[in-house]
Amino acid sequence: MARSTVDFGIDLGTTNSAIAVLHGVDAEVIKNNEDSDTTPSAVWIDKRDRLRVGRAAKDRSESDPDNTTSEFKLRMGTAQESVRFAASARELTPQQLSTEVLKTLCADVEQRLGENIEAAVITVPAAFDMSACDATRAAAEAAGLRFSPLLQEPTAAALAYGFQATDDNARWLVYDLGGGTFDAAVIQLRDGEFTVLNHRGDNYLGGKLIDWRIVEELLIPAVREEFGLSDLTRGAARWRPVVNKLKLAAEKAKIQLSRAPMETIEIELDDGAGERFEFYYELQRTDVERLAEPLLTRSVNLCRKALDESHLSPGDIDKLILVGGPTLSPYLREHLTDATRGLGIALDTSQDPLTVVARGAAIFAGTQRIPQLSAPVAVPGGFTVQLEYQPVGPDREPLVVGRISGTDAGALDGVAVELVNAGAQPPWRSGKIPVSDTGVFTTTLWAETGRANTFELELTDAAGRRREITPATLTYTVGAVETQPPLIHTISVGLSDNTTIQLIERNTPLPARARKRLRTSVAVHYGAQRTGLIRIPVLEGEYARGDRNRTIGHLDITADQIERSIPEGSDLELTLEIDASRILLARAYLPYLDAEFENVIDLHTESRPDATALRRNTEAELQRLDQVRQQHGEFGNPTSELLLSQLEQEQTVTDTQHLVAAAATDPDAAIAAEQRLRDLRAAIDQAEDELLWPSLVARAKETLEYTRMRVNELNDDMFRREFDQHEVAIREAIDSHEPDLLRQRTSELASMVRRILDRTGELQILIFEELIKYRAEMVDIVLADRLIAEGRAALDAQEITRLRNINTRLRTLMADPPPEPDPFSTIRSL
Ligand code: ADP
Ligand code: MG
Repeated sequence: MARSTVDFGIDLGTTNSAIAVLHGVDAEVIKNNEDSDTTPSAVWIDKRDRLRVGRAAKDRSESDPDNTTSEFKLRMGTAQESVRFAASARELTPQQLSTEVLKTLCADVEQRLGENIEAAVITVPAAFDMSACDATRAAAEAAGLRFSPLLQEPTAAALAYGFQATDDNARWLVYDLGGGTFDAAVIQLRDGEFTVLNHRGDNYLGGKLIDWRIVEELLIPAVREEFGLSDLTRGAARWRPVVNKLKLAAEKAKIQLSRAPMETIEIELDDGAGERFEFYYELQRTDVERLAEPLLTRSVNLCRKALDESHLSPGDIDKLILVGGPTLSPYLREHLTDATRGLGIALDTSQDPLTVVARGAAIFAGTQRIPQLSAPVAVPGGFTVQLEYQPVGPDREPLVVGRISGTDAGALDGVAVELVNAGAQPPWRSGKIPVSDTGVFTTTLWAETGRANTFELELTDAAGRRREITPATLTYTVGAVETQPPLIHTISVGLSDNTTIQLIERNTPLPARARKRLRTSVAVHYGAQRTGLIRIPVLEGEYARGDRNRTIGHLDITADQIERSIPEGSDLELTLEIDASRILLARAYLPYLDAEFENVIDLHTESRPDATALRRNTEAELQRLDQVRQQHGEFGNPTSELLLSQLEQEQTVTDTQHLVAAAATDPDAAIAAEQRLRDLRAAIDQAEDELLWPSLVARAKETLEYTRMRVNELNDDMFRREFDQHEVAIREAIDSHEPDLLRQRTSELASMVRRILDRTGELQILIFEELIKYRAEMVDIVLADRLIAEGRAALDAQEITRLRNINTRLRTLMADPPPEPDPFSTIRSL
């Protein structure tokens, strides 16, 4: 019989994937062909084009790295190049690779249960961006799953722990450290409902970073020294097979060290020129602990941040739920339970951290009804019923509404229905419920806890005879359910001046909807040459400066889509809908054309950053960091102290540098480097703003006082009214403690000052005085001197128009004219 609820849950992991099915109130992990609970998310394609997923592929990655790939999940949704398999010349995108993993998991179900599944819940890291969610859903569709709700991994884990929990009121922190991603989620369980109070995560934090550190800091230096291979580096193309082998060995040893204090790495390396050598290395648990420390610190800081933002402290949390392979290591557990280095919250490790997400996903799957492709078909002379109810809920007496239809007219007269829970002790019957003349009935059920309750529907006609009804049963389970999942990051659009307009704020419960009116900054021409493109970047993130957020796609309206030209500055109304799986639907309405455009947002995270640009940008940030450190030395406060010491502990700078160095040959490192650089930049911004805040406020107040004085002198009502508005805006910005806002408002006020100075003629004098400082750089020094002399004369005579002309001519004498004087320095110099 076809299932009415999804029931299957898939953990599509970066490193390992798993599938589970819900039986009653228990989720069972379905083993794969090798009798293992988890399947490595790795793909191998041989020269005959045979594709393998799982352990076989992961093992091949050592001997045949050109035909295997893994860790592709984090590149889902990026405009990322495909992975090329050398022997078969096949190319697959990260999304297609994920499809292959999903197909394997579905095949395991087919083999074990003989069931061909058409729907499954798929989990995604909470920190996944929207384009990655979109790609996940598309991958599921390509794998033959026509219905695939997405669930956030930490919520899945919490459901596995809390589905049948008896605590009525509890707060948990889910700590999910996988191979490549980290999620921390604060969960509240109250009256059988879960709420995710807050989340923080990092898509580039996980066990594989520990493996890389072992390789880069211990193994590579040892191999270099022992065999004299001075050019062996992670980023060098020639050494890729060797580095690969070292990384696999590092991971194996690291896992062993969760049990033993010391592990010997013993591998044969090949220098590519026919030379082979045996490499031994004794890796100590203490080495791994030391290398993992900054990563654990970063994860703990994210947990603290998630708690802080919810106004909670570790003492408010009942337990810490551990998820993911790295949480099997004893030193991680010690680190977390320690109240100073870690969180000091009691751990709950009663469920296997490698499969808890898949089991939670199966539980969630039990709450999801599969949309039926066709209405139920009645047997001849029988009836059908359409049922409305929640298949799972905290309530023991849930409500059910049904609508019955008969095969012949008038068949509903005198019809009644009864629901029976035959498995209950003692069996429970609803009593006969009459149906309305439109066939509708309403009732509450009575369900037992701790099992799935199956209710039979018994239909009787006017003569009291039993008649057939399709479907004839419904199933209900008492259990905790998730309420609405939160949106993880604010969604906004970026404007040309690097500011943003927020569309939906983070932590808004999903599904959510927003409508905003925007104004186009370019024209799109209709006609023989259709040119122009309205392209608005869609951003994910909370930063006020647009470029600090991730661009996850673009809202595009192209010239081919329109039937008339759209002038610059036209209104555009954008409507966004985000569903509980974080799938986005966007529509744009252009009042000028009275036309609506569907699916205007193409979701694709920016493509792979270029290694040279990464290096240059990192250098620029490090210079800024130096300046910030110096300023901190002079005017530091506790907040700037905290920000800088966090950077230190998390080793963000060294981490970024390592990743940037590896970026040239390793696309994963490039993406991770970009993320780290973004973190670094955000921390520097924050520290800079913190150190600058007092001076920003002082400058704003100074500008206000100066402008007030000038407005009073001028005695002009227009200026006075404008000034009053600026004053309110600046006071607001000071109260909000938002440096970007204050900066922007002060500069708006400064441009008013400019206009005042222009009115009085002083502006041209200031410009002249500024320009003569550049005399030596002017291309024709003789002409320059003549103009300067004329300018002095004009100044003495207060002939401002003449002075303006001279200024314009002086500027043309410069190859690289200076910007007009900054209104701030203008005011200061007065
Ligand atoms: P993902 O969610 O990314 O698929 P997993 O939860 O399966 O990841 O965790 C994979 C990571 O866990 C890998 O980095 C692996 O090296 C690490 N790992 C697995 N078992 C252990 C262990 N016993 N001790 C330490 N690390 C482990
Ligand atoms: Mg995982």
